[in-house]
Amino acid sequence: MKCIINRRAQFSASHRYWLPELSEAENIEKFGVRAKFPGQGHNYVLSISLGGEVDEYGMVLNLSDVKHVIKREVTNQLDFSYLNDVWADFQETLPTTENIARVIWQRLAPHLPIVGVQLLENSQLWADYTGEGMEAYVTISTHFSAAHRLAPNISPEKYGKCTRTHGHNYHLEVTVKGKIDPRTGAIVDVDALKRVVEDYAVEPLDHSCLNKDIPYFAEIVPTTENISLYINHLLTSPIQELGVELHKVRLFESHELWADYAKNGTETYFTVSTYFSAAHRLADPNLSQEKNTEIYGKCARPHGHGHNYYLEITVKGEIDPITGMIVDLGGLNQIVKNDVVEQFDHTFINEDVPYFAEVVPTSENIALYISNLLRSPIQELGAELYKVKLFESPNNSCEIYCTESDTNSISATVSQPVLAEV
Ligand SMILES: [Zn+2]
Ligand SMILES: [Zn+2]
Repeated sequence: MKCIINRRAQFSASHRYWLPELSEAENIEKFGVRAKFPGQGHNYVLSISLGGEVDEYGMVLNLSDVKHVIKREVTNQLDFSYLNDVWADFQETLPTTENIARVIWQRLAPHLPIVGVQLLENSQLWADYTGEGMEAYVTISTHFSAAHRLAPNISPEKYGKCTRTHGHNYHLEVTVKGKIDPRTGAIVDVDALKRVVEDYAVEPLDHSCLNKDIPYFAEIVPTTENISLYINHLLTSPIQELGVELHKVRLFESHELWADYAKNGTETYFTVSTYFSAAHRLADPNLSQEKNTEIYGKCARPHGHGHNYYLEITVKGEIDPITGMIVDLGGLNQIVKNDVVEQFDHTFINEDVPYFAEVVPTSENIALYISNLLRSPIQELGAELYKVKLFESPNNSCEIYCTESDTNSISATVSQPVLAEV
């Protein structure tokens, strides 16, 4: 079992897609409006993923040290800069989102056990880099609105109200994988990718009734899992024609429920999210207050503090051909509510959850504990618990990977606990 911790940081910077060896007309032809003088700016959001074992203090790494390194090596240098000039790397290869992510990895790798860099240019475009040479991932997001009903080809109780025709604003994220061009910094023409996703997926599905208007769903139940599988079919070859590979389709039915169809269907995942509000204090009862403060900082204050913990539970499995689901959704929600939320919500974790009388309730340790609570009940539902992700705050989260096979890729990372920091 592995543990990954994520630390978020931000910087604001401008860039311009402009190659001095080309004429103005050629630059405009190649990069469109992005070639315009003097460039455009973004509020970049950076997420650094670090992997490791949980130490005796219940942390993978001390997050305030991590924060300091990210500041020193990256954000202090890039914030309020013109990216094309700030680092020599960007004169060689333009500062596209994917190339900035790659170069940030190189800057941090000597200092931190880094397993992933994610960089958001805006909420519709981001890149991931996982240390694979010039290979990187670009994700675009969009949405469509559609009606569906989960037709009761089995007992209607399984689907509850979903047997009535109703609708959703589906949020769609499409991730492609490709090689960063050593000069333009791009793996793909993002505008062309957006057009493909609009033309092949959004346009046919938007404002439709999936069961009636899309022949594919005449016989197949339009669950989130099956819709993401269908979108994967629709997009695979047109995306290949752009010179990149479709890596993942993630489809949200709502903020609380989404499906991933990754690596051409070799990996299918289903995630539900929830939250609980709780107080905790990071302190080892066997150590002095001074020592605890030295290790945990403000988090060791004697009376505790609290968070809205946001929790994501991801299961892995095959889509059942009858129900169209990877896991019985009602059953999964019930387990998460009864076994986790009821136990943690509105508690002082150190005192109210017996396990944490002796174990320091860092995010890493809480996520590890939750993964142990959920593993066998989910198995009893016929699925496999894949990942537990716990956000202590928007800046700090940790992921426990519960299967042995997956390490260290974008959709599959790993591991144990993390120190969350205030
Ligand atoms: Zn629905
Ligand atoms: Zn805390």
